[in-house]
Amino acid sequence: MNEGLVTEQLTANVTRFCEALICPDERSYFYLVEGREIDCLIDSGWGLGWSLADLPRDAVKPLIAVATHSHYDHIGRFFEATERLGHQTEAELFSSCDAVDKQAFPYLDDRKALADGGTLTRESYQIPASPLTGLLSDGDAIELGSARLEIVHTPGHSPGSLSLIEDASGLLFCADTVHDGHIHDDIPGADRRALLASHQRLLERKVVLVCPGHGSVMDAAAFQKRIAEYAVSVDLAKDNGRV
Ligand SMILES: [Zn+2]
Ligand SMILES: [Zn+2]
Repeated sequence: MNEGLVTEQLTANVTRFCEALICPDERSYFYLVEGREIDCLIDSGWGLGWSLADLPRDAVKPLIAVATHSHYDHIGRFFEATERLGHQTEAELFSSCDAVDKQAFPYLDDRKALADGGTLTRESYQIPASPLTGLLSDGDAIELGSARLEIVHTPGHSPGSLSLIEDASGLLFCADTVHDGHIHDDIPGADRRALLASHQRLLERKVVLVCPGHGSVMDAAAFQKRIAEYAVSVDLAKDNGRV
């Protein structure tokens, strides 16, 4: 096991990761879902200090990598996968090797993003292009043998944001669409109304354990509370003339 990966076993076949090199406040989380025949990696962090070969899994099995969206903090090792799936509306961004297209900059300019207090510069932090090898649409499913991940298109944080649901266990992977920190809805490509609608769609699903791209794993009650809080914050913004 590579010590660049911080690992947490969530269930018998789901592992959650983040990256030791990244400052705790900036870390993103990504997930390995192991199936009997195929494994699925949902996102791949900033891509620093590890590689796909370090994932604790049976490497004889094929690996499908899904990117929930094209932001720099979720697609760091996406380029390494041979099967790379995402939503069509962000296909051009995945193909780009410009870190600005992945929204790394200007956000990271002068930001102490590394655990040692260091910064990433436009020269030092380059994200290879990772063109999609296949497209995922709302209602698609990824069959792993003993597990089945359904795709839900949940635009709002970004136009091609995807969530994945494993109905049998009630696991939801929702990346930046719902998490317990600030939900970015004012960045290029974001759409508050679409995000509210996506939240409503996710609320219709029976969830037991919610696995976000940032912050803590949530139970159903915490998930519903966070969505309600977000809706209130948007209403307040409306009152202030911002929506
Ligand atoms: Zn994002
Ligand atoms: Zn993120």
